[in-house]
Amino acid sequence: MDRPPCAGLWTTPMVHVDGDLTTCCLDEHLVNRVGNVRDTPLATLWNGATMHAWRLAHAEGRFAESGPYCTRCNWQSAGAMPREGVLAWLDATGEASVTARRRARGPGSPA
Ligand code: SF4
Repeated sequence: MDRPPCAGLWTTPMVHVDGDLTTCCLDEHLVNRVGNVRDTPLATLWNGATMHAWRLAHAEGRFAESGPYCTRCNWQSAGAMPREGVLAWLDATGEASVTARRRARGPGSPA
């Protein structure tokens, strides 16, 4: 079975007690640390370049280039990001070429 994008990259920002932000409730050692909300607003971090790159990597099935903790994850703890949600994000962010490739491959494709 193809690995789908993980919903965690879109839906579950996790802020540790000291303000460190990661993508995942499993990431107790902050392997996917994006920054610290004491230094940078949560929205800025969660919508910044690092998260964009990791989401795009998930959307394209390039998990080796996604968040470093995601590369060795079974992805099931946060669940799959619905295909419609990924396509809506790609449209909203202007990643049209990726969207076109995904649509050309049809339902159920990893990217
Ligand atoms: S792929 Fe795994 S490590 Fe990455 S956010 Fe999803 S559940 Fe967490």
